[in-house]
Order: sequence, then structure tokens, then C-alpha cells
Amino acid sequence: MTALSFDRFTLDMRRGACPALSAPMMTGDGLLARVPLTDAITPQQLAELCRLARRHGNGIVDVSARGNLQVRGLTKASAPVLEADIRALGLPLREGLAVEIPPLAGMDPTEIADPRPIAEAIREGARDIQGLAPKMSVVVDGGGQLRLSSLLADIRLVAAAMDGDIRWKLLLGGTEATGRVFGDFRETEAVAATLGLLRRLAALGTSARGRNLADNLPMNSGIEASAPPFRLFPLSDDLWTVGIGPAFGQASAEDLMGLCEEAMRLGVNSVKPALDHSLLFFGLRAACEALAAYAGNGGFIVSPADSRSHIAVCSGRPACRSASFATHDVAATAAAECAGLFDGSFRLHVSGCAKGCAHPQPTALSLSGAAAGFSFIADGKAGDRPFASVTFADTNAALRRIADLVRAERQGDENSAACLARLGPARLSAAVTSGRP
Ligand code: SF4
Repeated sequence: MTALSFDRFTLDMRRGACPALSAPMMTGDGLLARVPLTDAITPQQLAELCRLARRHGNGIVDVSARGNLQVRGLTKASAPVLEADIRALGLPLREGLAVEIPPLAGMDPTEIADPRPIAEAIREGARDIQGLAPKMSVVVDGGGQLRLSSLLADIRLVAAAMDGDIRWKLLLGGTEATGRVFGDFRETEAVAATLGLLRRLAALGTSARGRNLADNLPMNSGIEASAPPFRLFPLSDDLWTVGIGPAFGQASAEDLMGLCEEAMRLGVNSVKPALDHSLLFFGLRAACEALAAYAGNGGFIVSPADSRSHIAVCSGRPACRSASFATHDVAATAAAECAGLFDGSFRLHVSGCAKGCAHPQPTALSLSGAAAGFSFIADGKAGDRPFASVTFADTNAALRRIADLVRAERQGDENSAACLARLGPARLSAAVTSGRP
């Protein structure tokens, strides 16, 4: 067993530190360790990981928005034991630079190009690059049914078919919609260009990010929205996958173990944590359908129509010390009471504080917690200027008033995001504060 040094422990309490398996981060409910995987694992392995989460932590397991498993409630004594026990499971753990690919890469008959060779070449080439920002990430997106368009990335390669050829568009910073276009490359050139940019960023120091090299570059255009993962997807060779999500990205180890045991019983033999807090289970179509039915009955998200899948919420109280309230309670009530607002056109952001961990990008409507209550923000981030503030007790009633206003004012086939934008901060503020839409 290795001892977790106090210096590393203290260092990793910094905001923005990456809570990797070997460098857990302090949160409100103890240390949090991230378990980043590069490939699918078996349901047996996931169940074993859950047993370890129960033995060494508080039994709560997160699936992050980027598709990382996280074990919560560890102590300084139990975190290194968890690390050793997880390493003994022989999981495909990611070491080094985060080079992310869509979860169906290489199995998706609709993808434009298989991103795995490029991702592997970048991982390999980046091994000797020292001094990158701890959260530096590269996305290699070959297209297909599940894309990584909405994830922030320092460097992003996006496949495009052009005149019978495959080209890779290289973007710097932001999401696919907000990134800046650095250039257009063939496969080998794309790897070299990415490694060259990573070396430039390393030379600028550990605070340098992709956006720092993006000045004066043009904005990307022509973006397709990412599909949600909560449904069945056909893959190559009669294989299917189904996306299942714990509500708000968090489940008890017992519930996940039950899901894994059912997967094993049905002959579903692999599972991959994926984007939007999902777990993708792979198997025959009938087995995937049966597993989705079991999961839905158990309270998991199994459909993009589930309002909970349209709310981005951070861990809140008690898991985060910066939160002054239980974010999941507010989000659960909002999902139940304001279902008509969630038509898939935007994601409601419920944030425990202005940092906005759960949704770093702007969205049509955000709630941000402060000492005395909640701030409401239109078309912005959790830390942006609010259009109204309410007490904690009035928060869900205020949300209901906004949902009622949107229902009453929606024009034609206008979606919720467009309606919120058209109404603007003044109308929304009047609805929140007066209670009369
Ligand atoms: S946004 Fe949420 S998880 Fe992040 S620091 Fe604030 S309260 Fe904590």
C-alpha cells in the first residue's frame, strides 16, 4: 500500500484539479477518485468496481458527463487501497493525456472514419510531452450515431468525407460549435499537427489551453447536434447497444451491481461508460431491450424523453462543500413538475455555485446557488449576470412559473430554447418575481 502524501492531498484540493485514480480530489463527502477507461469492460468488472466503491468509499458511484466513472467518499487511508484493488482488476485504465473518441468508434456502420488509429498515434506521440495542463484533452471524432460535439476540448479532430477522401478538421478550444478552425488535414498530417500543437502548449506552461492558440482563427460552422445516448443503437455484426443512465449521473453501488447482474443474466457481455452520464451495454437486440426495461423499472434513464436527461446538475450538498443546497432535489422536482419545458432544445443547468461544474458552456436557462438562494440566468453560464434571484424555498415554484410562461407564449412549432430567448430576461424576470406569467 502506498501512502497518500499530505502535499499531494493538499495540491489536489485546488479547484480545477483532475481527480484521477492516483490523485483523488477532496470533496464534501470525502475524496473522489476518477476511473478513466479507454475501452469497454465486462458487467462483472463493473460490479466488482462497485463492490470496491462500497468497501472503500461511501458506495456512491458517478458517471461523469465525459463518461468517466468516479468513486466517492474515500478517505486518505482507503484511497490508495482502492487504487491498488482497481489496478488488480486489470481494467483498460487510461494513463497520460486524455485522447477521447466516440463510444461506438470502430463498431458504428455510420461513422465517417474510425478514429482509433489516430487517437492511439496521438496518445503514443504525446508520451514524451511534459508540462501540459492537467485537464488537457484531445477529441478525435470520426462521426457516427454518438458524437462528442458538445464536450469541451483543447484540440479536436473531426472527420469529414470530401471528394471520396477523408479529411480531418482540426479545431482549437470550445465545443465543436464554438471551436476555432486551425486547418484541414489528411490522417498522418493530423497526428503531426496535433502533436506540434501539444508541444507548443507544453512550452507555454501548465496553464496554457487550446483556446490560447486560437486568436484570430475563424469560428467553426455547419455543426450537427449530438444525439442523446439513451436509446438502442444498431452496430456492425448484429451487435446492438443500449444507453442507460443513472439519474443525474449518480447511483448507489447496489443499484449498479443489480443492473450488472441482470446484464450478465441476459448475456450482455460488455459495458462502456459514455457521454452524458450514460452506460452503454453491448449485446443482442433482445437482450439490450430487456435490460432497458429492467433499468427503466429501477429508476434509470432509458429514453431521451426522460426530463431528467435534459438537466445538467452538479453534485451539490452534501457531496460538494461549495454548494449551499441539495441540487439533485431541485433538479428532481423540476423534472417532475416542468416536464413540458424539456423538449430537448436546451439543457437546464442547476448549479450549486457560480463555478458551474456540470455545464461549463452557456445554456438557455441556468440556476446558480448562492448563500441566500438561487440566481436565474438566461442564455449564459452559472457565473453570468442573473435576471432574477429567489429564495431556496421559492426555487421550484419560480421554475414552474417559467415553464407556464413558455407553455402559454410558445408560437407555432417554436421550441423551448427559442421561446426563452425570444421572451428575454425582462419577461422571465417578471414571471419569476410576480408569479403571474
Ligand atoms: S458547481 Fe457544484 S460541484 Fe462545482 S464547485 Fe459549485 S457546488 Fe461544487
